Amino acid sequence: MQRKLVLWVTIGWMFGHTKGSLAHPPTTCNILIDGISCPTLTLPEQKEVKRLCKQSKISINCGDGVCKSPKNDLNCPCDCRKGENHLITEAKTGSYNGRTFCPQEQIVKHAYSEADIIRLIGEAREQNLHVKAVGASHTDNAAICTSGMVVATNKMKKILGIHTKPDGTRVVRAQAGVTIGELGRWLHDHNYVNGYGIVGYHLVTLAGVLGTGAHGSAVKHSSLLSDEVYTIRMVLADGTVSEFSRATTGKTDPQLWNALRVNLGMFGITSEVEIAVQDDFLVHMVTESHPDDNLYKQDGLWNLIRKCDVANVSYFPPRKSSHFFEKNHHGKAIINCGTSIYKRADESWGDFEKKADPGGQFILHAPHVGNFFWGIYLNRLHKSACDNSYACTMESLRRSQLVDSPPYIRHKSATDETWFHRPKGITGFAYFMQNSTGSERGMQFRQTDWEVAIPMRHWAKAFQLLRDYMTETQPDGTPKFCLPLMGVYIRFSLVTDALMSHGSVGGDFKLGEPVMFMEIPEFIPSFDIKAPEDQKLAALILTQHESHYRGYVEMMLKNVDARVHWAKNRPELFQLQQKTNPVRKAQIEDFNKQIIRLDPTGVFLNDFMSELGIRYPSSMQKQSQQKQKGEPLKIKVREASKAE
Ligand SMILES: Cc1cc2nc3c(=O)[nH]c(=O)nc-3n(C[C@H](O)[C@H](O)[C@H](O)COP(=O)(O)OP(=O)(O)OC[C@H]3O[C@@H](n4cnc5c(N)ncnc54)[C@H](O)[C@@H]3O)c2cc1C
Repeated sequence: MQRKLVLWVTIGWMFGHTKGSLAHPPTTCNILIDGISCPTLTLPEQKEVKRLCKQSKISINCGDGVCKSPKNDLNCPCDCRKGENHLITEAKTGSYNGRTFCPQEQIVKHAYSEADIIRLIGEAREQNLHVKAVGASHTDNAAICTSGMVVATNKMKKILGIHTKPDGTRVVRAQAGVTIGELGRWLHDHNYVNGYGIVGYHLVTLAGVLGTGAHGSAVKHSSLLSDEVYTIRMVLADGTVSEFSRATTGKTDPQLWNALRVNLGMFGITSEVEIAVQDDFLVHMVTESHPDDNLYKQDGLWNLIRKCDVANVSYFPPRKSSHFFEKNHHGKAIINCGTSIYKRADESWGDFEKKADPGGQFILHAPHVGNFFWGIYLNRLHKSACDNSYACTMESLRRSQLVDSPPYIRHKSATDETWFHRPKGITGFAYFMQNSTGSERGMQFRQTDWEVAIPMRHWAKAFQLLRDYMTETQPDGTPKFCLPLMGVYIRFSLVTDALMSHGSVGGDFKLGEPVMFMEIPEFIPSFDIKAPEDQKLAALILTQHESHYRGYVEMMLKNVDARVHWAKNRPELFQLQQKTNPVRKAQIEDFNKQIIRLDPTGVFLNDFMSELGIRYPSSMQKQSQQKQKGEPLKIKVREASKAE
């Protein structure tokens, strides 16, 4: 694996990019967002833009946890602002990648137990503060912000055991802050797994995942934890504790239960959950590369994946280029297709385990690359944000690499733990084949995602639109939008009745049909900002860079009944969705009706949700509106303290 990746990165380094220089860094922006105008840049400003584009030092080092010059709190907030576990504790919370900062000052508190949550909600109520629960802050927008008190539950980490419910469902009970990774490993050690509801990333918390409807990828099964959750225990706005479950609320009050399973932190603060589990099983994962032609036909993608239990796809559009290294690529769908293998009743665990490749593991988030080559890789990604021809070369390399070195590895043998790559197929335990282990480089790879859910009847149209959008060229003949990370990443689940899931039933989303999650990950460059003017120019570069990502989401919202992922999109796209998708708008109104039943005074309301149409007939709503108008807040910022 390492050798192949090194080879590709070296080739990329040697061949550089198609046009040869950063002679044309972006000096204009073609959309107007986030208050950034499109100025005509003066000559000195153009020089500064070039400098920011060329200098990749911060992009390479930001996220290593060391705040050392030239890093500062403007150009690398995740290293240079004080924080604990990526939760910015000085005055504002923000996303894990230092990208979203909450616009208002807020009090940040950690809860270590349910009793802490009750006490903190009480304190907030006494001071008439709004409350926002957060987990690991992996949401990349202001959904995790509040004008009042943040209660972080990521320290509530007990796994309380497995038991069987009266209806025969086996469940694991765990506190809100247990991560997907901690739960997955614990269950595996006890010969269990929570089926297919395994988010692709290990560091997010159970309550956070139920907050956004985060998903893994399964074709014939639901890949949502929200469909596996059996019980949700919450501290409500009045400080009381309620337990809602599939067997009780799900039967007597299904609308409330369906709203609670993807709750956006709007009903209360989750303290514990129970998740349905099953005997551990194996997944045999095979990587296949297909021409893209089928994707544009009705049922084309479905016919390629219908045999898989678990699947993820990297889609690369056809490219035409005069550069010899990139010449005339046909489009490709690289499919990692997993088939489940269950233990036979007459088989011992020992015999079953022998079918697994030793250490079989999905490693999408943790490529094994040496420091030197990692630096080159990040340098090229940084430059890609300024000059698309770099992005095109990187895309070309990545496409080849994903076929030759799929992101699945195993140990050489049961006794030799040297990592070994076996591209043709790997068999591993279900959790390890669905959830990517994290990188030892931690935060050093700063990325964000742009994701939408698309109902099955529009899959072919979505690919046609995307192909045309991505093959559009600039005046110099190079493609306008290349994808240096992993192409368009596609995952699946089944349409669910969990109301606020972006794959929930309604409109063209038919209950039980497959739903496609189409996502374009973006590398976030960090510029060498020395002065506030640099910051303005860096924002301009980013705006230009991201205009294509935004454009892609807009196109899907307008044309294929798409819905945006709660954690992976910017506010204006949620606003657009309200206009383009009446079904989603109506769902948000239904959600509102359920929230008001449990939180009638809007304790958990924040500006983000308020702008999306969550309304309260109370004084709390009035207070929230005042804050939106920018009236000064009478809130003192306190250090987060450990509660007794
Ligand atoms: C590298 C990376 C990979 C990712 N991979 C995937 C993926 O594979 N699939 C996918 O769908 N998403 C993915 N995401 C998005 C991520 O899974 C979601 O944003 C998830 O909700 C984050 O969990 P968190 O613990 O960080 O929650 P936060 O971001 O802290 O919070 C998310 C929501 O949950 C609410 N919440 C948190 N804790 C509580 C609580 N105790 N009680 C009530 N409400 C609460 C918050 O109020 C907020 O509304 C990824 C994100 C990153 C950064």
